[in-house]
Amino acid sequence: MNKFVATVAMGLMAAGAAQAEVTEDMLANDQSMTNQVVTNGMGRHLQRYSPLDTLNKDNVKNLVPAWAFSLGGEKQRGQETQPLVYDGVMYITGSYSRLYAIDIKTGKELWQYDARLPEGILPCCDVINRGAALYGDKIIFGTLDARIVALNKDTGDVVWRDKIDDYKAGYSYTAAPLIVNGLVVTGNSGGEFGIVGSVQARDVNTGDLVWERPVIEGHMGTLNGEESTMTGTLNATWPGDMWKTGGGATWLGGSYDARTDTLIFGAGNPAPWNSWLRDAGQNNDGSGDNLYAASRIGINPADGEIKWHFQTTPREGWDYDGVNEVVAYNDRDGNQRLATADRNGFFYVLDAADGGFVGATPFVKDISWAEGIDENGRPIFNEANRPGDPSKAADGKKGEVVFASPSFLGGKNWMPMAFSQRTGNFYVPSNEWGMDIWNEPVSYKKGAAYLGSGFTIKPNYEDHIGSLKAIDPDTLEVVWEAKNDAPLWGGVMTTAGGLVFYGTPEGEFLALDDETGEVLWSFQTGSGIVGQPITWEQDGEQYVSIISGWGGAVPLWGGEVAKKVSYLNQGGLLWTFRLPKELAAAN
Ligand code: CA
Repeated sequence: MNKFVATVAMGLMAAGAAQAEVTEDMLANDQSMTNQVVTNGMGRHLQRYSPLDTLNKDNVKNLVPAWAFSLGGEKQRGQETQPLVYDGVMYITGSYSRLYAIDIKTGKELWQYDARLPEGILPCCDVINRGAALYGDKIIFGTLDARIVALNKDTGDVVWRDKIDDYKAGYSYTAAPLIVNGLVVTGNSGGEFGIVGSVQARDVNTGDLVWERPVIEGHMGTLNGEESTMTGTLNATWPGDMWKTGGGATWLGGSYDARTDTLIFGAGNPAPWNSWLRDAGQNNDGSGDNLYAASRIGINPADGEIKWHFQTTPREGWDYDGVNEVVAYNDRDGNQRLATADRNGFFYVLDAADGGFVGATPFVKDISWAEGIDENGRPIFNEANRPGDPSKAADGKKGEVVFASPSFLGGKNWMPMAFSQRTGNFYVPSNEWGMDIWNEPVSYKKGAAYLGSGFTIKPNYEDHIGSLKAIDPDTLEVVWEAKNDAPLWGGVMTTAGGLVFYGTPEGEFLALDDETGEVLWSFQTGSGIVGQPITWEQDGEQYVSIISGWGGAVPLWGGEVAKKVSYLNQGGLLWTFRLPKELAAAN
């Protein structure tokens, strides 16, 4: 064979291989490549917006089921996954660390992978998983025993496997990994066990750790197997040795802002919940802030160095984890912005360049722990709403009980909001609830809950807890609200067709008018929806998928709210809907 022929043959082979493999380019352009969904968030900016408008306000009433897929078995727990779609295959993760590959046209299973989980795993908030990541010929996901597994996407065979951390110490993993420039980037779960939040980046082809960045001050990062830099300044905002078990779990994963080449991860509550044990004595000079817990953190993907941070709840004491997703977007004037809706009840707009504070507004109605947010983005604490110090109690065991709102499950929890490039608004799944909360003494013990708090969640209103809110990020006003009886716990998606999709624990999958909140279509899925919708096009038709399967943290931790919704049925069905060509033009 002469050199020219060999080169052509190799070129053809490379082209053939490239067709079936997921590339960095596909990840970067996932939003505009409408025949695929290869990233969590429908784009690494997590906008969850599709430019497809085949399905629109006029014809959405013609959306019909195409197929449904049962997750089977006895493992009917919360199903929080976002499906991925590539090359004729849909990939979903399921409860108990399962992963399925499904034929996109028929709904028939191609293969299934069940992670073998050890006895003694410590997932705090149901045995859920929120999704996988695709790259090259691999599909990658995290498991409840704090491991990460890469499978061949065509066969389900294990390619590599690695340990994120020690499940016996309370670590676990539930978020979708994020892939940037050949690195698979993950956080960790276990914030209720006194673990230390961290972000890790591995070579996607080998699983080898490239860098690690702990998110609690005093801990040392690594790069290429060696110590890199310390996170923050030792003891600047933490007293004594409390930072060593300081929490800040990065359990919801992260986003990637390509405009500034920045990974953005959130850190959960500082540990323990009892904030008096982490109190350096000065509350308003920053020395007791417990960085970088309850913060959003901008990280350089090349070396794991922290570029900036924005702390939503300094000296946090209500379990207001700072993990909620940060969405990269441009506002109506073209400014590069970031937005996030925090557990603490406030919606924040930040400058994409440096995480600088731009504005904030409450997105739930009855916030009691703070009067508002000052011009620097710092909360104006209502000190009377801080749960009392148990060491000051007569018996030294139970501090003063306060009723605080929102509840520790948050004005918004993990369930992702969506941004619409069509309206310029965010669509935020929120909950109106509060809690009785008090503090107790506690000391750290490996693998045991490390809270120092007791609590009971209560609804704030008789007629609803859930509330989907359309928020204008430029004026910081709520444009409309759609109320729901049960607390919302699933993700939202917007489309260029003017639709907002989300599901309810009552099992309804809904399409709303993005300008008015009017319900244009709904479908009863048979169990509660706590999953995340996607849409894509295939053979000239637009498809929508959602997983149905009630569970998650609410039935386990919801107190009086859990009792109120205890009638809801468990399940495990992946639904796919289609707008038939002949009905796309019909009205
Ligand atoms: Ca937490």
